[in-house]
Formats: sequence, C-alpha cells, structure tokens
Amino acid sequence: GKVLVTGANGYIAMWLVQSLLEQGFAVRGTVRSEQKAEHLRKVFAPFGDKLELVIVEDITKEGAFDDAVQGVSAIAHTASPFHTRADEPDELIVPAVQGTTSVLRSAARFGGPALKRIAVTSSCAAVLDPGAPRLFSEADWNEASVAEVRAHGRAAPGIAKYRASKTLAERAAWAFYEENKASVGWDLVVLNPPFVFGPVLHLVDAPEKLNSSMLEWFDTVVKGAKDNAALVSQGSCWIDVRDLAEAHVRALTVPEAGGERIIISAGPFKWQDWVTATRTITTDVPAGDTSYDPKATSHALNYDTSKAARVLKLEYRSMEDSIRDMLADFKAKGWWK
Ligand code: NDP
Repeated sequence: GKVLVTGANGYIAMWLVQSLLEQGFAVRGTVRSEQKAEHLRKVFAPFGDKLELVIVEDITKEGAFDDAVQGVSAIAHTASPFHTRADEPDELIVPAVQGTTSVLRSAARFGGPALKRIAVTSSCAAVLDPGAPRLFSEADWNEASVAEVRAHGRAAPGIAKYRASKTLAERAAWAFYEENKASVGWDLVVLNPPFVFGPVLHLVDAPEKLNSSMLEWFDTVVKGAKDNAALVSQGSCWIDVRDLAEAHVRALTVPEAGGERIIISAGPFKWQDWVTATRTITTDVPAGDTSYDPKATSHALNYDTSKAARVLKLEYRSMEDSIRDMLADFKAKGWWK
C-alpha cells in the first residue's frame, strides 16, 4: 500500500520515509514548498516513483489534506512546529492542533476504503509534568504546561508553549477519533517519544540550523556545554531516530496498536552520560565533568515502556551506536574534526 507522511522533509520524517521505502511501501510525502521537495527527490532517487511528493502550503487550512489522503492505506502525521522561539503561544498551538485535526478531518471525508490506520507523532512533552518528574505512563497528560501557557501567555517559557502545543494537538486527535470512530474505516495510534537523537538525513546547511533536539545534542556534546554543573544535573529520556522510524512503521502496520497511545523510550540520561560515552570513542569533544559517576546519579524522570515492548516489540539502539553514527554524520558534513 501507499503511506502518506506529512512534513516529509523533517528530521524524523525523512528517516520514516526511508524505512517505509526500504520495507517496500510506496510513500506520498507532503512538504510546504517545491524547494523542500528537491532534497527528498535527491536522497530517495534510488526508489524511483515509489516516492511521490505533494505540496501542502498551509496545513491549518480547512481541507488542506483533502487531495493528499486519497488512495492511501495509512497516514503518518508528523508535521508540527518544534522550536522554543515563539512569542505568541498560538504560533505553535494553531499549526499543531489545526494541522492534526485537518489531517483527520480530510481522512474522515476523503480517505478511501483502503485507509486503515493513522499514526500521529505526539511527544513525551504531552505526557510529563515538567515540575514534578517521576515515572510516567500512557495514563499521564501534561496539563501543567497547558495551564502555565493559559496563565502567562506570551510570557510563558518557550518550552512550555511547545509542550502545550503537543498536549493540545494530541487531545484534539483523540477527541476527533472518539467522535468519529464509529463512522470511519480507520483507527488511530499515537506515538509519544522523548528527545530524538541520531544522524541527520534532512537538509541542514549548518549545525546552527539543526532541528531542536539535534541542535541541543550538538551544542552540548560536540561544541561543549558552558556549564558543567548542568551536564550532571540535567537530562531527560531519549530514542534513536531510526528506532523511532521503525516504531512508526510498526504503529502503522501492527493490528494491536489500533486505538493505543504508546510511549517509546530507550531510557533516561544526564547530558554528561552522552559526553562520557562520546569520550570513550573520541577525545575530540570537550570532557565536561570528569568527576561524574553515572552509578551515583538518579533519574527522576522516566517512562514506563512496557506497552511499546508488548505491542510494537521494539528494541532500542545503545547510546554508543547512536553516537558513532552521529559523529560519522557530522564528520561527513564537515561540522566536526
Ligand atoms: P523538524 O523541525 O525537523 O520537522 C518538523 C516538520 O514539521 C517539518 O516538516 C516542518 O516543515 C513541519 N512543520 C513545522 N511547522 C509547520 C507549520 N507551521 N506548518 C506546516 N508544517 C510545519 O522536527 P522533528 O522531525 O524533530 O519533529 C517531527 C515531529 O516529531 C513533530 O511533531 C515533533 O513535535 C515530534 N517530536 C520530536 C522530538 C524530537 O526530539 N525531535 C521529540 C518528540 C516528538 P518545514 O520544514 O516546512 O518547516
């Protein structure tokens, strides 16, 4: 069958398109402009006409995806702004929420009989409570960031605006699905990944222009953190971008995934863990805090990934594997060494 991937030129989406093509699916990708299609055509040239690219200039427009959804058997909606520079919260919330409902509405109206599954890329940002880190599961929702943004508007931190956009977009996806599931021929799966790291397939002409998660990795590990104290005290959870791409393929194809919200995470880290692991491979990155003892640190923020293991049967790459491939990628791009 053919899979529609929205925001096909993004960091995660490029790897998803590659995984789908490699596994024999045809792909229709949406991008915002013809210029953004060029790089995909080049990278995926070996797959010939298995990849079709269509322009959706404004995903917030009513009916934006009416044509794009026709004839596909599955949809992966990944397009959503991920940055922390927004002034107005709506700069993030409107495209996140309306982009999501727009895809689902078009699918309900114009998705053909072949359409069986829609996967939406949400985030652990829609799960966690940033002020009270603990072990979270699919039962948890980040209402705290929504409340923070409602209370403070433009003055809320950029990261809270992003997290609110992901929470509200995922809420909107489930609400639409609950209202319409009796009358549509497809079901919904939502994936909630934490920080995504790994080599870069999408078009980036300078490290400063990396997508948010990889920019943070590059700045912290390759360029070196300004503040060693933050390296040992701050962290999160992560997944390799290629494992996340495979998780999407399974979310689109595994019958039992239907109707499920699924957290996928390879585990927690402190930033110094990345630095220390990188230093076992090369000494050409700053050492950070060499007194750090990974066994003595505690990871308050963590996720229950038993559903992903049960339903998607996912295995995760190690930090070392991801690091090797990121460094090789940065070297090939002339960004490191
Ligand atoms: P990228 O910034 O690389 O990709 C974002 C994609 O969304 C691009 O195709 C971009 O198109 C599109 N997009 C952004 N804003 C708009 C808009 N206003 N209208 C239409 N399209 C838009 O980021 P990622 O690949 O990292 O993110 C992909 C998805 O994964 C997002 O939903 C993100 O929230 C989610 N995610 C990412 C994580 C990470 O650590 N990277 C962690 C958890 C979830 P364009 O290039 O034209 O701007």
